[in-house]
Amino acid sequence: MENIKNYINGNFHNPIQNHWIDNYNPSNGEVYGQIPNSSKEDVEQAYKSAKSAFPSWSQTSIEERSRILIKISELLEANLDRFAKAESKDNGKPISLAKAVDIPRAASNFRFFGNAITQFASESHESINQAINYTLRQPIGVVGCISPWNLPLYLFTWKIAPAIAAGNCVVAKPSEVTPMTAYLLGKICNEAGLPKGVLNIVHGLGGSTGQAIIEHENIKAISFTGGTATGAHIAKVAAPMFKKLSLELGGKNPNIIFADCDYDDMLNTTVRSSFANQGQICLCGSRIFVEASIYEKFKKDFVNKVKALKVGHPSEVSTNIGALVSKPHLEKVKEYINIAKAENGIILCGGNQVTVAGFENGYYLEPTVIEVPNDDCRVNQEEIFGPVVTIMPFHNEDEVLQMANKVKYGLSATLWTNNLKRTMKMSNQLQAGIVWVNTWMMRDLRTPFGGVKASGIGREGGFEALRFFTEAKNVCIKY
Ligand code: NAD
Repeated sequence: MENIKNYINGNFHNPIQNHWIDNYNPSNGEVYGQIPNSSKEDVEQAYKSAKSAFPSWSQTSIEERSRILIKISELLEANLDRFAKAESKDNGKPISLAKAVDIPRAASNFRFFGNAITQFASESHESINQAINYTLRQPIGVVGCISPWNLPLYLFTWKIAPAIAAGNCVVAKPSEVTPMTAYLLGKICNEAGLPKGVLNIVHGLGGSTGQAIIEHENIKAISFTGGTATGAHIAKVAAPMFKKLSLELGGKNPNIIFADCDYDDMLNTTVRSSFANQGQICLCGSRIFVEASIYEKFKKDFVNKVKALKVGHPSEVSTNIGALVSKPHLEKVKEYINIAKAENGIILCGGNQVTVAGFENGYYLEPTVIEVPNDDCRVNQEEIFGPVVTIMPFHNEDEVLQMANKVKYGLSATLWTNNLKRTMKMSNQLQAGIVWVNTWMMRDLRTPFGGVKASGIGREGGFEALRFFTEAKNVCIKY
């Protein structure tokens, strides 16, 4: 059994009330360890540890903070195989993906913010009436970081790295569904020389451990990534306490394909943007709209490619689609396939649970393509967050823009075209925080990242994150 502990003040602790949760391996459905179900008291301990580390950490030179962050990055890279294996086992994702994307990106997050903090400048304004204003960017104090299960270490560190780079101390909670790499991160932080208490990691359920973080009156900012309903709840709890909030929430992203695109590139990328990480990426293009003139060709080619994807054990190098993250999530995704059928959707391929020999109790599902009769149906409006995409044809720009924007979400959109005017018009009018044209999930960590509408508020990435994790104070000096 691989049991994990809370990381508080640089040490590893059992939960005070000795309450534990089972941790499942999605590839075989077995419990392989236990994690703390931390209470308010554990969160309070983590808070106290962060609070006492803050005066010193916030005064630590930028060069020293940068050095430690970069050291954490190097140690993650040196432990790539171990972390990738742990991530794949905990989450069900193919080990090839964890190795190529999740862990390298977690390392990049620390390196990026270790460098970014050395370049973070604030404004000054010289006034005509013999005064100068300059803006201080001061760390907030103790901040809370809460992350989901789909890209566990990747998203956890995307918050923690800018928070500590900016001089804050952190109480963080990874998803209870995928806690393992966050636990391993604590050891790396000690090895890198991160002072005790700068980062504290408490494990447990959202409704208890997470709730204790968001309710804590002295945790002054919450950076959250997860579902829209949870985000709305957090906003309700945190807003009356005037906490700073960054909420990265759900998506139902359109993938819009025009006939003038580079077809092969589009086809290969669309397979990836539909099914990477079992479709469990908030940025996946789960609603595919195809210009009518190439619709039948696309349908045939896409379905053929999807049928060729191999569903298998995450540790096998040849696996394209691993296990879904949990049994309840698998059931939720299967239920949406039933809803699609009831709404007269046509299952073009997939739709069934898969039994992988030797791992019969794992949570495997075929990649599924559904042709929908209209864009109003539930499978086209609600976030499924699994290996399921819908396809339908469109006839002109205005029609597809209207369908693309007709959901409550607005995280990302993908556009495939070589027409410049159309690119400019559509990029301007798509209701999304991120628009990719002729690519998908190409990331530059300096760019603003986040959504509009029910996909959240605030932006992560680059200086946006450093602004979030600091308070601006203007100083006006008359001379
Ligand atoms: P979730 O909202 O159920 O949980 C996310 C985190 O919040 C977990 O750590 C959970 O324990 C915690 N939590 C739950 N209730 C809480 C409460 N009352 N107080 C404090 N914390 C609480 O989401 P999930 O199922 O883990 O993740 C899937 C969702 O995340 C999807 O909707 C997906 O689109 C979204 N997501 C968004 C982005 C983005 O960048 N916008 C990235 C990845 C995932």
